Amino acid sequence: MILDINKFKPNDIKISDKYSSNLYKFLKKYIKQGYNKVYFDPVDNYDGHLIELDMNFLPLANIYIGNMNDADVIGNSLSKIVTGQNIYKLSCRINIKDEYIDITDEFWKRYEEIGRCLFIDHDGWYQDVNNTRFTYTDGTTRVCNWCGKRESKRIEEIIKHKEIWE
Ligand SMILES: [Zn+2]
Repeated sequence: MILDINKFKPNDIKISDKYSSNLYKFLKKYIKQGYNKVYFDPVDNYDGHLIELDMNFLPLANIYIGNMNDADVIGNSLSKIVTGQNIYKLSCRINIKDEYIDITDEFWKRYEEIGRCLFIDHDGWYQDVNNTRFTYTDGTTRVCNWCGKRESKRIEEIIKHKEIWE
């Protein structure tokens, strides 16, 4: 599959919108070397448990973009790319052929559809700088401008208990 990276170009390439500015820059630099395959690493980085693959939402740290050569893959992790840490510094992961799952086609299809909502959740830690992600229709409804999801606000009361000895 030849990837048309123009589909993933933010309006201003310096600022991410639905599409990540850094991911676009990475693709632009490495597309000719074929570093546009996408792999899912099913092993959790912290405790080693197996993560189920869900193409509606992908954990950033478990996605690797690059190209496989025999059993090794050269590229960069998606978390480093989108957060802008050494986006052009490639690394090699050795002997992962049997562990990583190739999700290239499905990944780019979903990314085209819903943009960064594929890996940055609606109330997650990594939001866009200009706050253009949501359109608020009134005080209680918002629509995501990237994936189109409509959400209603609900207020939940949280009761805290504190143990005090006196
Ligand atoms: Zn969304």
